[in-house]
Amino acid sequence: MIYDVIIVGSGSVGAAAGCYATINNLNVLMIDAHHPPHNQGSHHGKTRLIRYAYAEGDRYVPLLQRSKVLWEALEKTSATTLFRRSGVLSIAPIDSPLIPKLVDSAKTWSIDVETLTASDIMQRWETFVIPQEYHGVLDKDAGYLYSEKAVEQWIRLAQEQGCAQLFNCPVESISHYDDLYRVTTADGDYTARKIIITAGSWAKKLLPDLPISPVRKVMAWFQSDGRFSHHTHFPAFTAQLTDGSQYYGFPAEEDQLKVARYDGGQPLNDATECLPFGQYPTDGRECFTFLKQFLPGQSACLFGQACSHDNSPDGDFIIDYLDEDKTGLVISGLSGHGFKCAPALGEIASQFAMGNEIETIISPFRLTRFDKS
Ligand SMILES: Cc1cc2nc3c(=O)[nH]c(=O)nc-3n(C[C@H](O)[C@H](O)[C@H](O)COP(=O)(O)OP(=O)(O)OC[C@H]3O[C@@H](n4cnc5c(N)ncnc54)[C@H](O)[C@@H]3O)c2cc1C
Repeated sequence: MIYDVIIVGSGSVGAAAGCYATINNLNVLMIDAHHPPHNQGSHHGKTRLIRYAYAEGDRYVPLLQRSKVLWEALEKTSATTLFRRSGVLSIAPIDSPLIPKLVDSAKTWSIDVETLTASDIMQRWETFVIPQEYHGVLDKDAGYLYSEKAVEQWIRLAQEQGCAQLFNCPVESISHYDDLYRVTTADGDYTARKIIITAGSWAKKLLPDLPISPVRKVMAWFQSDGRFSHHTHFPAFTAQLTDGSQYYGFPAEEDQLKVARYDGGQPLNDATECLPFGQYPTDGRECFTFLKQFLPGQSACLFGQACSHDNSPDGDFIIDYLDEDKTGLVISGLSGHGFKCAPALGEIASQFAMGNEIETIISPFRLTRFDKS
């Protein structure tokens, strides 16, 4: 049997790609080393931020706008709540370029934001303590997504539409011959006309030249109360501190406030090195400095989880062809900010599988940007 497309890695982007390609009547085989959703990749820990004013660059905005539409459609089709519009409040020192960049992005793309002084923030959310040399911007339509639930729905919808799924079965190698791709797994070999590699942090095992560096990251949940809940309009947030460290968090659910540090982490060579939360002395305390200063009502760390980022050299996504015939595609290097764009990235992958034009949208993300001039 020759599939139209094999998807190697069916986590965030691969699950979306498999779902959209199947809905578009392709004969699809989705493969994963585990059974998505799971806690061995980059999509667990319950929630992910989605924000629209994007300091990371204008090239992301079409992906974000398309994702917004596709998130809404997925919520409707699956009859599942996947998004909470809590707003995302970004806080940074006045001399940091971050807030002006967010305001510029909002102006260019007509995104509904509100700029706030430190006093404005403390007046609106009494739980925040913001030094006067900070300011912020509230991205009003932004919020957070339930990441594992979303992956679960894409997998379910794909399966219901007749997609073949081979889970708990790692791909060992990939070869390209006679216009076909052959994928070797512990379960045997599979063949397809096209291949999409969406193996997250472990794509490098299959594509050794891919310039990505896996990094272990942790998320922690702190004992909280109703003042920090989305029911009382506490926002999701990001915070950049004067020492350059970056934190983010989510409104409390069940009196548990999730906070994490964006920068730092432990470099990984292999998935087995991604040790569980609590195995490094810094795991439970890396957010303490931020919490003590900005959200002093928080105290005990209840539990945590470890996850991995697949960092590219410049922190930007990698989307590129694998071969000159343009029959293979890799999407990786999402560098800790890719979940919100998973629907658009999955759609791009499915368009590629159908033979449709994707050149324009992927051009800023191709590997040629790393070529030395
Ligand atoms: C702690 C943390 C917080 C984050 N916060 C945010 C946020 O707030 N907002 C946001 O937008 N993004 C965020 N991200 C980033 C986002 O979650 C990732 O960019 C996204 O989930 C990556 O999707 P992916 O499909 O590339 O990887 P994954 O979802 O990990 O999927 C890759 C899949 O490939 C499979 N696989 C790997 N190797 C093989 C193989 N050899 N054979 C078969 N299958 C294989 C894996 O099992 C996995 O299921 C965060 C990430 C982390 C870790």
